[in-house]
Amino acid sequence: MSDYHWVRPANLTLPDPDENADEFWEGLKQNRLLLQVCSICSKTNYPPMVMCSECGGFDFQWTESEGSGFLYSYVVTHQPIHPSLVDYTPFLTALIELNEGPRITSNIINIRPEEAEIGMRVRLELFQVNSEITLPLFVRESAS
Ligand SMILES: [Zn+2]
Repeated sequence: MSDYHWVRPANLTLPDPDENADEFWEGLKQNRLLLQVCSICSKTNYPPMVMCSECGGFDFQWTESEGSGFLYSYVVTHQPIHPSLVDYTPFLTALIELNEGPRITSNIINIRPEEAEIGMRVRLELFQVNSEITLPLFVRESAS
């Protein structure tokens, strides 16, 4: 198991949630990853949307993800594409497919970028940045 531990760049821009995603961000603050499910066609929309991407509906329910999935794809960035990323490269950007189906762009915080393997099992690890923002990050599941 890797002894690596991810560090969030202190000056990296934070998400700026709008009212359409209030449930999502409030859920994270309460240690729950909530997914938006269309009341008409049952499509799970991620990220949360004003209008269902499948049927155009406007009525949603929220269901809690079990927080488990696998690494669907990833990219390793070597150039500090933002001033706050100087001294934080290379870094991994991961596309996680949740067991419920949606794919979520995130980070895997307990591995080095070169340890990423397509298909590796991951689980949710919430990271509280401040009183308003908690980020849905992931850790590699132990093989044991
Ligand atoms: Zn729909």
